Amino acid sequence: MYVDVVEWVELPHTLGMSQYADGGMLASKPYVASGRYIQKMSNYCRHCRYHPGKSTSADACPFTTLYWDFLQRHNARFRRHPRTALQWRNLDRLSRSEKRDIRDQADEIRQRH
Ligand code: SF4
Repeated sequence: MYVDVVEWVELPHTLGMSQYADGGMLASKPYVASGRYIQKMSNYCRHCRYHPGKSTSADACPFTTLYWDFLQRHNARFRRHPRTALQWRNLDRLSRSEKRDIRDQADEIRQRH
């Protein structure tokens, strides 16, 4: 972080946009991604003990679990948003029990950290 741009760059962009911490004041959509995206954009996953395509199980990628949990928690708000609708439509492909397992695993992750 650059000290001289904290107020006008780091807070609105680094925190506000990347974490959707401003509730949509600056960014119209949340910039959320699963472990699959991290795998596609980097080589971080190559030697990781987690699997970026899995959202439940002991070797599930925590980013993927929390991604699907985020979509579930904010379903009502974003499912009709023109820039995010596709992400939320993918959520519809999961069964009720898969969604429940993801929520349970996400709760575990949050409690652990
Ligand atoms: S935690 Fe997930 S996103 Fe991060 S390196 Fe491991 S598999 Fe990839």
